Amino acid sequence: MKSPIWHPFTQHALCDEMTRIARGEGAYLYTADERRIIDAISSWWVVTHGHCHPPIARAIQEQATKLNQIIFAGYTHAPAEEVAALLLKLAPRGLDHVFFSDSGSASVEVALKMALGYWHNIGKPRTRIVVMQYSYHGDTVGAMSVGSRGVFNAAYGPLLFDVTSIPFPAKGHEQATLDALKFACRSETPAAFLVEPLVLGAGGMLMYPAWVLKEMKRICEASHVLFIADEIMTGWGRTGTLFACEQADVTADIVCYSKGLTGGALPLAVTLCRAEIFEAHYSKDRTRTFFHSSSYTANPVACAAAKANLDLWQHPKTRQRVASVARMQEEALEPFRTDSRFANVRRAGTIAALDLKASDAGYLAEVGPKLQAFFREQNLLLRPLGNTIYVMPPYCVTKADLDEIYGGIREAADALA
Ligand SMILES: *Cc1c(COP(=O)(O)O)cnc(C)c1O
Repeated sequence: MKSPIWHPFTQHALCDEMTRIARGEGAYLYTADERRIIDAISSWWVVTHGHCHPPIARAIQEQATKLNQIIFAGYTHAPAEEVAALLLKLAPRGLDHVFFSDSGSASVEVALKMALGYWHNIGKPRTRIVVMQYSYHGDTVGAMSVGSRGVFNAAYGPLLFDVTSIPFPAKGHEQATLDALKFACRSETPAAFLVEPLVLGAGGMLMYPAWVLKEMKRICEASHVLFIADEIMTGWGRTGTLFACEQADVTADIVCYSKGLTGGALPLAVTLCRAEIFEAHYSKDRTRTFFHSSSYTANPVACAAAKANLDLWQHPKTRQRVASVARMQEEALEPFRTDSRFANVRRAGTIAALDLKASDAGYLAEVGPKLQAFFREQNLLLRPLGNTIYVMPPYCVTKADLDEIYGGIREAADALA
């Protein structure tokens, strides 16, 4: 029988058999018959401290019996206020306001609407968005529009709005990126430049250095183009610092956080912005209101989870864990740097990636599903992007876990390369 549930990014005709998970603990997932699976990709990049991390689980439990939902227009609550205050304390200096939503894609839509609303409300309407090649910003129509065009969105092409794309700053070609951004900022008077800082996730775990990020911000600032950072994946320690922008000493005008915001326990997202953006909407004139909401805006239970996560980030121990995972990842990658079956062995903080040399590359590379099936057999949750294998574990991962993960990758190469 065909699955009654339609799963995301899943071709049911090729894979109708889902692995059913009964519980999660730390870096592990367990099936009903207690088969242990190592979660090497943090369940799609969201679980940061581990599955069912006790302080977060406790915060959820407590909040769920106190206040579990409240309209957020005209009403507020302590968990949301505490999350906003802590975010503004921990995020790069210069951000002043927090808008809540419930997914990364929604937070990107909010960022775009904030940017266009800003220009509209100050009487200098601008609508063009500049993006980077290979970017991914989500799957709603606006988020798809600012993301890389390809097989994922070919069917919806006519619905997507037009954007200006600058090349990815590949090693040795950084200047071409900066020149293209400069040109776009001068010739098109865009509303904003939207970018994933340091690592382009779904685009293939492509990494670029902090100085390029810093320079891109400088160019935008010089030409009065709003700089939007999509830290949905890169935030919460993934690149080694709490947020990737810290490494370039950059404060975006607008920034999106989600995924690890609740430690991966519940869906929640935020869009932070500078005072000018809020102030452009601040008026006795009701037509200038920021017209955006979702039913579950700032859901109290999700906010309680985020508060518990933000508390964890105030402990030096959390950052020490991140540093130690980064170190272990570097050591684990070492032998692959001289393994001729792999190319582009790379790391940014706790994220490690490497490309298995295959006759075809890209997301639909034949080797992708084969690798995935192979890892499934080995009780490893890994989900290569085509021939790109990446390891993005929760921070409770141990050296023994990493040995198992990389052992599996080596065996996969033996079997498939
Ligand atoms: C996951 C992701 C999104 C979309 O977030 P959802 O919660 O899946 O909507 C947007 N941008 C980046 C960089 C992401 O990694």
